[in-house]
Amino acid sequence: MNIEQLNKLGPKNKALLNKLNINTLEDLVTYFPYRYNFINITNTLTETTEVIYVNAIILSDVKVNYIRKNFNALSFIASLNNFNFKVTIYNRAFLKNSLTINKEVLLIGKYKKNTNTFIANDLKFNVFNNKIEAIYHLTEGLKLTNLTKYIEEALNKNILIEDYIPDSLNQKYNFISKTLALKYIHFPINVEQIKQAKLKLIYEELFVYMFKINYISNINKKVQGLKKEFSLDIIDEFIASLPFKLTEDQLTTIKDILNDLKSPKRMNRLVLGDVGSGKTIVAVVALFANYLSGYQASFMAPTEILAKQHYESLINYFKETNINISLLTGSMKKKEKEEVYQKIQAKKIDIVIGTHALLNEQITYAKLGLVITDEQHRFGVNQRNTLQNKDKAKVVDVLALSATPIPRTYALTIYGDMDISQIKTKPKMRQETKTYIKSEEEIKDVLEAMYQELKQNHQIFIVSPLIENEEENDLKSVTLLKEKMDLAFKKKVRIEIIHGKLKQSAKDALMEEFKLGNIKILISTTVIEVGIDIPNATMMVIYNAEKFGLATLHQLRGRVGRNDLPSYCYLISKEKDNARLKVMEESTDGFYISEKDFELRGQGDLFGVKQSGDMTFKIANLKNDYKILLRASLDAKEYINSLEYQQNKLYKELIEEINFLD
Ligand code: ADP
Ligand code: MG
Repeated sequence: MNIEQLNKLGPKNKALLNKLNINTLEDLVTYFPYRYNFINITNTLTETTEVIYVNAIILSDVKVNYIRKNFNALSFIASLNNFNFKVTIYNRAFLKNSLTINKEVLLIGKYKKNTNTFIANDLKFNVFNNKIEAIYHLTEGLKLTNLTKYIEEALNKNILIEDYIPDSLNQKYNFISKTLALKYIHFPINVEQIKQAKLKLIYEELFVYMFKINYISNINKKVQGLKKEFSLDIIDEFIASLPFKLTEDQLTTIKDILNDLKSPKRMNRLVLGDVGSGKTIVAVVALFANYLSGYQASFMAPTEILAKQHYESLINYFKETNINISLLTGSMKKKEKEEVYQKIQAKKIDIVIGTHALLNEQITYAKLGLVITDEQHRFGVNQRNTLQNKDKAKVVDVLALSATPIPRTYALTIYGDMDISQIKTKPKMRQETKTYIKSEEEIKDVLEAMYQELKQNHQIFIVSPLIENEEENDLKSVTLLKEKMDLAFKKKVRIEIIHGKLKQSAKDALMEEFKLGNIKILISTTVIEVGIDIPNATMMVIYNAEKFGLATLHQLRGRVGRNDLPSYCYLISKEKDNARLKVMEESTDGFYISEKDFELRGQGDLFGVKQSGDMTFKIANLKNDYKILLRASLDAKEYINSLEYQQNKLYKELIEEINFLD
């Protein structure tokens, strides 16, 4: 049912709800609060460190003092149990007319005894008793009271909200009903109700998620694949000819993959390895084995730049072989593309490298045997399934590479539909990137360090994120930054800005120049393309570093230190004590950092895992609710094997949804 059904909702607020992705009454009642205010009304005024709630009566007219632009103070005299005191609240001039003498208001804030003043952060009407108030993420223009009102009305309409937890499990765990859970989550009267509601809703969400994973995993187990034949000796020879010795984990991963390729079962493997752990070479060996067995392969990268980079390294790795390699990207001319299509169809190309477009294009492979996707950690389970099934016959082996250094137990659960290989160790010769947190006042230190690198003809990345959310202003501030840098280095080195608004071709051109070493300092307003390899770049300077999550910071830092030169990362921030930044200073181990990320922010970034559409949970939190996740995972496995789900209408629909994604 559309939210238009709500009597109290006008067009302006409807648009605001839509902005929050609330379109139906179901969306509305499952728009969950992220925290609660426990309003505990006190009867005495005392000076406290915590905020207190006081029901007071207004005794005087309200005065507003306009201190300066966008800053005003509203004040009046109030009384609590016949004790009079002054109330001040900032930037609420608009409340002036609603604050009339003798009116009762709930003041939220702190009392200062020496001035007999209550500094209120907030003020509410019509709250006369203790209560728990649910707090939601809002959007500008939408008031909490209104959202709460709409949710209340929607709940009172008694719309049917499906409960995905099977009856047997509802009984086993004594869960409250879904209807009650929704009521409690929005309008609890005690903490116990919040607990019960959360448990129910979190479990449900994770159960459904794990059901999907298991369902897909079961399908994948059944499908027959291609049994490939190739000579291990030739592969060993190839590995021996590489310019470096493979690490233990790389070798184990390669072994896993070669076994998969040989087996008649379809490969569906995910390689998890930190930035710089050397995943590409693993893919290269897989491509080689696939070629030796007479099949074609497609290798997908998330960006054109990365695709190009892979193309160049493959050409290099395979220079002693007869493998035909081709690049296919969106920016190529139509005629060039068509030429590539024809060659693929005629099996004149063995390996084609490109972006996602690679799968959507009208390409017919003569004999496709392997699909590899690089940096795949933004995909959720639905999308992974789609990718795997692009090949109509569903036999092609699938290999995914991901810089997702999450703990193994988590990986095994949330990526339960795939087999997993982990590359934990990094190549030995790599030195740790030294990391320092600096305030803006210490920028001289950073400039000095930059100067030292430039003197050795090394290159530098600067990342300065968009913060104002006003592109004009942000670009101005980056331009200003470039001017400062030009001034500092007396225009002796070429400095360029790369930003989201630039055309792809312009971005590519800049990256190419940087790669060639013509540009010395590259200032980027957005996150630099993942996986990009510029071995000569030895320094990463990140402005407003506190704005980034740990995963992003780690990925960004991974752009430097890609050879055996000493490398540096400077995190510039107003918050020198920021816990996340400290973690960065402390360690370069992605697995360690991801554990810390779990501790500090919960599901947070989870190293990119959250970014995918179907892994953004409404209420569950993969870290905090990990115990529930494991429980739900076991239950989902049992449920799917009991075949009970086939009688369940909801799960029938769910499965249709999954299959529809093919
Ligand atoms: P990522 O896992 O981030 O994709 P890459 O595959 O791009 O990492 O490897 C990063 C760099 O390390 C590349 O320049 C690659 O040639 C090099 N490399 C990979 N494996 C080894 C190894 N075993 N010894 C030394 N260098 C290696
Ligand atoms: Mg890579």
